[in-house]
Amino acid sequence: AAVDNAPAIVVGSGYGGAVAALRLGQAGVRTVVLEMGRLWNTAGPDGKVFCATSAPDQRSMWFRSRTEAPLASFLWLDLVNKDITPYPGVLDRVHYDNMSVYVGRGVGGGSLVNGGMAVTPPAAYFAEQFPTVDAAEMYGTYFPRARAMLGVNTVDPAWFESTDWYRFTRTSRKAATAAGLKTTFVPNVYDFGYMQREAAGTATRSALAAEVIYGNNQGKRSLDKTYLAAALGTGNVTLHTLEKVRAVTRAADGSYLLTADRIDLTGAVVETKQYSCASLFLGGGSLGTTELLVRARDTGTLPDLDASVGAGWGTNGNTMLARANHVWDTVGADQSTMPVMGIDDWANADNPVFAEIAPLPIGFETWVSLYLAITKNPERARFTWDSASKTVKLGWSAAQSAVSVAMAKKLFDRINAANATIYRYDLFGSPSKVFADDFCYHPLGGCVLGRATDGYGRVKGYKRLYVTDGSLVPGSIGVNPFVTITALAERTMARVLAEDLAP
Ligand code: FAD
Repeated sequence: AAVDNAPAIVVGSGYGGAVAALRLGQAGVRTVVLEMGRLWNTAGPDGKVFCATSAPDQRSMWFRSRTEAPLASFLWLDLVNKDITPYPGVLDRVHYDNMSVYVGRGVGGGSLVNGGMAVTPPAAYFAEQFPTVDAAEMYGTYFPRARAMLGVNTVDPAWFESTDWYRFTRTSRKAATAAGLKTTFVPNVYDFGYMQREAAGTATRSALAAEVIYGNNQGKRSLDKTYLAAALGTGNVTLHTLEKVRAVTRAADGSYLLTADRIDLTGAVVETKQYSCASLFLGGGSLGTTELLVRARDTGTLPDLDASVGAGWGTNGNTMLARANHVWDTVGADQSTMPVMGIDDWANADNPVFAEIAPLPIGFETWVSLYLAITKNPERARFTWDSASKTVKLGWSAAQSAVSVAMAKKLFDRINAANATIYRYDLFGSPSKVFADDFCYHPLGGCVLGRATDGYGRVKGYKRLYVTDGSLVPGSIGVNPFVTITALAERTMARVLAEDLAP
């Protein structure tokens, strides 16, 4: 097959890939972006690009015959999941032993399916996780740059206090306050001006129509509308979709050779393509990038990769749980899907937890307060190559999840005690499951900055090979991660363009 040659290739179009593509394009470097998911820009038969959460169809999930929503049940009934036709849908759930990981698939990666919470970590914790990174430069230059490019904004506090759409958040805040806990507003990339027009009935509803995990048809500033639009606008960036990179090797002249499978909408491989490039940027996310590199090292196509490739993986301490409120503490049938507040107990050295107050937008009163707790779980796991099955395995144990659960429980036991409330038992499938300990939204690590790479994401052992995504973060960042991933990618690109790719 003919080899398609480009000066730079970016694998993946999530946060890390999008930043790389834009900064390369602006620098005049002709760049090809390879993304395994589809471009989400054409309406389906219902006139919408993304399907409704309440009526998922083939667009919802990545090659499934039944959806696998995070909340499997309500009153133990499997009301949530639906049979669908296998298709390159926008949300994937990747199953490993003891842990499954939700990720976005498509042009924009996780930005297409996530809750938009755009949180900058506390500086002290950033410095603890990244001791070799100049924190002053991050907080002075790269975090502000990332937030501006991502379109971060905040909810109007007066509207927040008065609207039915955030009653669920106010009810959770009241319960946290009763336990003496601090709550804090968190910014988001969803356009709050647009959301207020949705509430007023003057704009088509999206966040106020339960849209989120299967994509937002309006209002969300996902990467295809920000970084990636700007990248394509440079005229130097080309996007190839439905192409999954499965192997990387290096030619004698030092260039990289990639093998990618192009699939059709049924998932059949219709073409195997060969690419070559002088500089390779990996933005496949914690799972995608780490899998490619572990495979390359252990099958011998990039044998000089560091032993720490594959190590340092964590869930950001993710644990989902819910509390049952008293009948008089209603959460409302109307709930915006975009979270705007967290319970911030991170400064509690004894049990650091930051818990996002999450919506459960199912259209009727549930009395449920739902949370995604981010705990300071120190447990880490490693990805390894299994030569028998020719797959990459993750060595995460149930005991490692139990550490997150214990931390979340400690915080929410306090809230329950102060309010004389209990947990909900009916949401996560099995009859007695209170804590969702088997999935996460925040996969982090696998190619940790300063270990598998140098201090700027240059992969050890190889020239002009870079990691720009969540695999650089050592398993935990204490808040929702995409602002940190974006800011670190900005820092890497500034350095690499100045030092490695300067004409
Ligand atoms: P990703 O965004 O995952 O992008 C990787 C891309 O590479 C994907 O498009 C993938 O299809 C593609 N890819 C992977 N491997 C290959 C390959 N071999 N070949 C070609 N393409 C490949 N974070 C927050 O900060 N705030 C939130 O509110 C929030 N909510 C979330 C809600 C949900 C439901 C989920 C799933 C995640 C949420 N997150 C949130 C997490 C956030 O979305 C991720 O941390 C972020 O997307 C990771 O960015 P990334 O650049 O590392 O990779």
